[in-house]
Amino acid sequence: MKVLVAVKRVIDYNVRIRVKADQTGVETSNVKMSMNPFDEIAVEEALRLREKGIASEVVIVSIGGQNVQETIRSGLALGADRGIHCETGQEMQPLAIAKILKKIIEKENPNLVILGKQAIDDDSNQTAQMLAALTNWPQGTFASKVVIENNEAIVTREVDGGLETIALKLPAIISTDLRLNEPRYASLPNIMKAKKKEIEVIPVNSLGLDAAPRFTTLKVEEPAKRQSGVKVANISELVQKLVHEAKVI
Ligand code: AMP
Repeated sequence: MKVLVAVKRVIDYNVRIRVKADQTGVETSNVKMSMNPFDEIAVEEALRLREKGIASEVVIVSIGGQNVQETIRSGLALGADRGIHCETGQEMQPLAIAKILKKIIEKENPNLVILGKQAIDDDSNQTAQMLAALTNWPQGTFASKVVIENNEAIVTREVDGGLETIALKLPAIISTDLRLNEPRYASLPNIMKAKKKEIEVIPVNSLGLDAAPRFTTLKVEEPAKRQSGVKVANISELVQKLVHEAKVI
């Protein structure tokens, strides 16, 4: 069984995001970039399936400029077998990403495709769902547990007020939620081994698809600054402030 994992290069989650002065987007130059955290969980899940003998190959795919190869390489250092870099200088919206991934699926014929539930930079939470629609494959989104048996993926999903368990006929699309697993760290020998692993480069404009954007970003703004707090001496002062100043009780 082959597992394809889609990984996005995003601003590292520890970095404080700065909005560009002209409000057209966020500052990405000289900023630490990493693999989208939900995609790390996707890679980990694929590796665990391989370690259990269920998957035979884990292939990582990323779409973007030359530097996404670094992100693919970090997935190879975690243990994935090989990478595919769909190269483009253009910023791609979720529909375009889903169309590109569909082309890679047609080429690679995976049994399972795992994506993150959302990229932490655009918070779209669209690509897995769009990919399932384009491929007409079943989807298990926000997975917190995945079991593969009898050519099915049994996916436990975190839904409002509890857990839902569904069965998907393979091939299928899964998107990962935070509690699916805890990703491993890359070991030094694996980082060395990853340098020799293959990354195939496919130019997006060779795929013959319409990747044009479907929306325009009008403006990006910083959230309103939080006002600093005050220290109160005791509970009665706190209650006074809540009643008379904040007027919340
Ligand atoms: P989004 O719909 O943008 O929130 O992204 C959801 C998931 O789609 C991510 O967690 C990735 O698994 C995948 N994805 C989004 N953008 C890319 C990209 N440029 N390259 C590879 N995978 C991507």
